[in-house]
Amino acid sequence: MGWLDGDVALVTGGGSGIGLAVVERFLSEGCVGVGVMVRSPQQGVDLRERFGERVVVVDGDVRSGADNQRAVDATVGRFGRFDTLVGNAGVWDFNTRLEKMDLAQLDASFDELFGVNVKGYLLAARAAAEALRASSGSMIFTLSNASFHAGGGGPLYVASKHAGLGLVRQLAFEFAPQVRVNAVAPGGTATALRGPASLGKGERRLTDIPNFHEAVATAMPLKLIAEPADHAGHYVLLASRANSRATTAAVLRSDGGWEIRPI
Ligand code: NAD
Repeated sequence: MGWLDGDVALVTGGGSGIGLAVVERFLSEGCVGVGVMVRSPQQGVDLRERFGERVVVVDGDVRSGADNQRAVDATVGRFGRFDTLVGNAGVWDFNTRLEKMDLAQLDASFDELFGVNVKGYLLAARAAAEALRASSGSMIFTLSNASFHAGGGGPLYVASKHAGLGLVRQLAFEFAPQVRVNAVAPGGTATALRGPASLGKGERRLTDIPNFHEAVATAMPLKLIAEPADHAGHYVLLASRANSRATTAAVLRSDGGWEIRPI
């Protein structure tokens, strides 16, 4: 018996990091299938190898409405139902301060960061809405410590994740009573989260930052850097109708205690 027995989910950015941990955990909690939207064809190959027929992989860009619709349609088409959307694909800005960007870079990187981190969530929600209303399902979005505090990125990332918080609240309001809308807010996590191509950081990974693990672990009251799997149970809880029936517009923080850091 799993908490998600018989359910079907769709995870954007589910080919790596936190999204991949959610895919794995949803399947182990009884999901009959998970749609996964990826940007890298290799991620698709790896997912099919690992999970076989229990995943349907859709190559696409979350900034495209048509790609989001294809992902929803492929998931429903393959598994015959749809219970949970996990909007998760994201990019980071590598702490780039405002004055480190010239006007052209700022213009382009705003469009890229907000295109993925905010518009991508809106388009996924729009594409999934009708099917989730029909199934009384739920949406879960990956936010961040940067949804609440300064210092988890530069102004573009922090603003985009604050926008994500507003989006969760507004969508929870608009989709009630049929669809619950919630979020998980991880803190520093050992993933290969990338930067924006528009800042020349498209191939740079979070884990390329020297001493990133140690810096996060030192700064957090729980003295750890999270692994992607550390967050996955929060998504299970929020997706579970039996365990979260009365929960909407909630954000589960999974950040090692960011809010209670000592001065
Ligand atoms: P990750 O890079 O492993 O996952 C992000 C995924 O999004 C990747 O698979 C990537 O291919 C995909 N993606 C990026 N742009 C895309 C696009 N345009 N279309 C489709 N897919 C796209 O890194 P992660 O850390 O697992 O990131 C997942 C989420 O967690 C992000 O929303 C991120 O902001 C958030 N987060 C991460 C951390 C951290 O420290 N790693 C902390 C807080 C929040």
